[in-house]
Amino acid sequence: GATIGILGGGQLGRMLSVAASRLGFKTCVFEPDGDCPASHVSNYHVKADYDDPDALRSFAQAVDVVTYEFENIPTSALDIIETLRPIRPGREALRISQDRLTEKEFLTKLGLKTAPFAAVDNGDDLATALDQIGTPAILKTRRFGYDGKGQARIMTSGDAEQALAEMAGTPALLEGFVAFSHEVSVIAARAPDGSISCFDPGENVHQGGILRTTTVPARLNPTQRSDAVLLAANILNALDYVGVLGVELFVTPGELIVNEIAPRVHNSGHWTQNGCAVDQFEQHIRAVASWPLGDGRRHSDVVMENLIGSDVDRVRQIASEPHAALHLYGKAACKPGRKMGHVNRLKPGAS
Ligand code: ATP
Ligand code: MG
Ligand code: MG
Repeated sequence: GATIGILGGGQLGRMLSVAASRLGFKTCVFEPDGDCPASHVSNYHVKADYDDPDALRSFAQAVDVVTYEFENIPTSALDIIETLRPIRPGREALRISQDRLTEKEFLTKLGLKTAPFAAVDNGDDLATALDQIGTPAILKTRRFGYDGKGQARIMTSGDAEQALAEMAGTPALLEGFVAFSHEVSVIAARAPDGSISCFDPGENVHQGGILRTTTVPARLNPTQRSDAVLLAANILNALDYVGVLGVELFVTPGELIVNEIAPRVHNSGHWTQNGCAVDQFEQHIRAVASWPLGDGRRHSDVVMENLIGSDVDRVRQIASEPHAALHLYGKAACKPGRKMGHVNRLKPGAS
């Protein structure tokens, strides 16, 4: 059988490995950390750094196709892998999503709405950007941000200096603050033949920049629901995308505003593990392996709760709840803010 190569050995890589294994594939994970969540469930683990060309080459040669669980893969590593094996989703999706400025320009060109934005490299840029965009606003590093890290809120122009200091000289982006009523996301998949399957949009609640819960169905009227799915399909087609993509949206009375995209399986899609016949992880594996996409229709109402840091102390209690499916990542050390697992609570008898 074929072997799927996965760059990154965190919980997303782990759940991709499990899904691949269920379809009869072998998996090989590339990850510097020896004791990572994915290494416990995958067939092979290349424990090496992204700046090790020999390790990258032997990893690529050991697999049939390469996918990834995070978007910040160094370009130099991709350059090496690309000469040996197909990378799915493709490099254009990575290039665009690695930089918030490139991403917002791409979305704008597609005719999609984003928060107003401006590039900020220094104090002069920030002053000009604040004149244009106004307050409140958020200054974000253009690269490497996740779970709300690398962001500073600017409530009044008096906060500007402090916010700029927090960027520590790295290129940043100022975003106008969107007065949304709630946040939703669409998890969408596209196969090499161009077929598309979107999961039902989920409603997301964040706390301190970290996803706390996802609830399906989301509060959306029929127009908003079809707009959300159509705009996700628009993005997939524009990138000639293969695999699963997460699209985070702000819901406002007038329109849906795209917050960001992630070229991978997404935390807000974890509910699909217990709410659909084929979940986001299997859908991603199917797409990258050129299988037909599976049935991603939602059969149940679900609330997904992330178990973050000491939340995991409640596992035994959660384990005995009815209608609760527990997913733990096997992480040895529990730290504040660290995602340790999640629980999908099904609404009994409803769909
Ligand atoms: P992720 O872990 O999802 O990749 P991230 O670090 O890339 O997170 P964002 O998604 O940009 O962060 O922001 C995190 C959260 O902060 C959003 O889900 C939203 O709640 C809030 N937020 C971000 N940008 C804006 C904005 N322009 N207006 C209002 N709220 C925002
Ligand atoms: Mg992000
Ligand atoms: Mg986000």
